[in-house]
Amino acid sequence: AGRFSEVSQAAAIEVFAVVKAFNDDAHEKKVNLSIGAYRTDDSKPWVLPVVRETETAMAADTSLNHEYLPILGLESFSTAATKMVLGENSAVLKEGRATGIQTLSGTGALRVAADTLKHVLKYNSFYFSNPTWGNHKMIFEHAGFTETHQYRYWDAANRGLDINGMLEDLNAASANSVIILHACAHNPTGVDPTQEQWKQIADVIEAKSLFPIFDTAYQGFASGDLDKDAWAVRYFADRGFELMVTQSFAKNFGLYNERVGNLAVVVKDASVIPALRSQVTLLVRGSYSNPPNHGARVVSTVLNNPKLFEEWRTCIRTMSSRIQEMRAGLRERLEKLGTPGLWDHITSQIGMFSYSGLSAGQVKFIAEKYHIYMLSSGRINICGLTTKNIDYVAEAINDAVL
Ligand code: PLP
Repeated sequence: AGRFSEVSQAAAIEVFAVVKAFNDDAHEKKVNLSIGAYRTDDSKPWVLPVVRETETAMAADTSLNHEYLPILGLESFSTAATKMVLGENSAVLKEGRATGIQTLSGTGALRVAADTLKHVLKYNSFYFSNPTWGNHKMIFEHAGFTETHQYRYWDAANRGLDINGMLEDLNAASANSVIILHACAHNPTGVDPTQEQWKQIADVIEAKSLFPIFDTAYQGFASGDLDKDAWAVRYFADRGFELMVTQSFAKNFGLYNERVGNLAVVVKDASVIPALRSQVTLLVRGSYSNPPNHGARVVSTVLNNPKLFEEWRTCIRTMSSRIQEMRAGLRERLEKLGTPGLWDHITSQIGMFSYSGLSAGQVKFIAEKYHIYMLSSGRINICGLTTKNIDYVAEAINDAVL
């Protein structure tokens, strides 16, 4: 037998498995409500016009080449990305207390963050929300964290945030535990803390000397407003916390496969930044050596050019408005059909996802009878809804719940 003959089959990653089932389904009315990507009202991926325009100009620019980027990436990109999340008038930026590192999208930012906290600061305990995005646990465990914890988040009975449970669990965490927070548009629940609740969360994190990481995969995409979606991050930064922000440009720029991300680090004392960057340089060098250029150059060009920046802001408003319309449309239809239960959470939740409250059994029923695919947790990607399929989806949910 060969060396690899004993290798066992690993469990499939659910979201990719569901997409494959959808692709393999020949039914003409099939609907994909699983993958975390934007779709137009024609169920098509959308290349933002501002991205197309920037790429066209890049293709014609013969001064550009394919030389390696520095290990920590394109500086004009990471500086602009850090400014985008901390805000134009950030005191932290004025004091030089933040630095940005280009990463392989949001996932890569989380991995570099985890590697740095584990291998440089020697932290070993991390907390993620129950539930959370399916990759947080694996990223931190693969980086070597051995103390894995969850904090309570979703209150199933009230379809909202279990703030008391969350505060209690954070209160019980040991010092230097890493707390992964979703900056906005919590995945998968679509439920965010209010500003008042963020203050309570900050109080506990401060009192217990915990270390916050803001996973920011949806800035601007959630509400349509970049500043509003960065409120929690800026609140913590202004309060004097040291923290990390892991930014993805997959959703808000529609640059999913270009892997454009930024790890922003906020520190107390600006003088530590060169040493910190030198340590991260070694971690990245021993991992993927240096990041790709294309997507980062697109984002950098747009963020650093006022006219393109305005065009981009129009694009994110287009995406977030369509999502909000589909939320309202689905709720209205379910209420009109008299589907048992309350459906107001569909419009109060924010971002791409809705935690519908459907059970795994109902999800299976809907897939088998209606060829509509969602995750077994009942998470729906609202972007999969269109004016053409929304009646069909509402009827299917009604049939499953009745
Ligand atoms: N974090 C959250 C909460 C997400 O939902 C996602 C994407 O779905 C990511 C991080 C990272 O995605 P990417 O690596 O594609 O930027």
